Amino acid sequence: QLQRPFNFSAGPAALPEEVLQTAAAEMLDWHGSGLGVMEMSHRGAEFIAIYEKAERDLRTLLAVPSDYRILFMQGGGIGENAIVPLNLSRGAAVDFVLTGSWSQKSHKEAGKYAHSQIAASAEASGFTAIPDPATWQVNQKAAYLHICSNETIHGVEFQELPDLKALGADIPLVIDCSSHIASRTIDWSRVGLAFAGAQKNLGPAGLTIVIVREDLIGHALPICPSAFNYELVAKNDSMYNTPPTWGIYVAGLVFDWVLRQQEGSLTGLAAIEARNIRQASRLYDFLDASSFYQNRVQPAARSRMNIPFFLTDESRNAEFLAGAKARGLLQLKGHKSVGGMRASLYNAMSDAGVEALIAYLQEFEKTSA
Ligand code: PMP
Repeated sequence: QLQRPFNFSAGPAALPEEVLQTAAAEMLDWHGSGLGVMEMSHRGAEFIAIYEKAERDLRTLLAVPSDYRILFMQGGGIGENAIVPLNLSRGAAVDFVLTGSWSQKSHKEAGKYAHSQIAASAEASGFTAIPDPATWQVNQKAAYLHICSNETIHGVEFQELPDLKALGADIPLVIDCSSHIASRTIDWSRVGLAFAGAQKNLGPAGLTIVIVREDLIGHALPICPSAFNYELVAKNDSMYNTPPTWGIYVAGLVFDWVLRQQEGSLTGLAAIEARNIRQASRLYDFLDASSFYQNRVQPAARSRMNIPFFLTDESRNAEFLAGAKARGLLQLKGHKSVGGMRASLYNAMSDAGVEALIAYLQEFEKTSA
């Protein structure tokens, strides 16, 4: 069997090969049902079994407490930028901490539905740092405070979620965890709502996960579309409208895969997290030791998932990318708003992929001597 190239895409992104193979093997006939998953009724016993296992496994994986609902929705992260204020704002102001493009986008969109404020911003640093929570101007009367816990484009990640109570504000924290969900644990005691598009760590685009504390459900603005009303979605077990069945199935295979991962004595999410830390440190250490490549994010704010970097000689970017592609290292081009390169090391990335990237970085650097 041919080795597949290493895919560093920021999303849609690489999935575990084992998951793709299972999905391929079951494509025409899921477990002897005679039906492929795409062809099943979402209300049939077969799909309900797939859905219930996926929900159960995600709850186990992320240690989601019983007073939080898991919703399988559509609309993506950008959809949630509107859906969250439509459900949670209740006519009050909403707060944002700006740490990169995605939190900026969320702040702007929320302004259509609520008075959208900025509690802190790292824009002056070029989004290379996270403002110290002690300096945030949190509105204690806001309906919630939103952060993007991993900024996919700028490569900035909260290593610890803020404790809003300790900051004197007893308001829910909303996290957009699209690009690092299932890569590390979530401290639910600090979170009211978490949302994530599936297409980075969980599966195909088209599925959006929302995990929301029960008391925050049931307060949607009258203009909220029914399909996006958390109360209706929760009451109908994510089947108020037809859910993204294929996405739920593939994500379910990914949850099962994560739960079975092992690293030494660690299993499941702990194993995945240890692997992610090892891989990201390996790449950051290499970049920091080199004068040819550069990552500009403050070490304390660096993402384990998305690692932007620049060549000192940017005129060689195209040559770098062509050489990478020729060696089976795909989708390393940085986001257009930041430039340079970006290596996304999601859960499905192997150590071998990171080593192959570093070997190429070394090789390319030598050609410039
Ligand atoms: N939030 C974050 C952190 C993201 O990385 C992305 C997608 N790259 C989005 C939101 C938007 O997701 P979607 O395109 O699924 O709407």
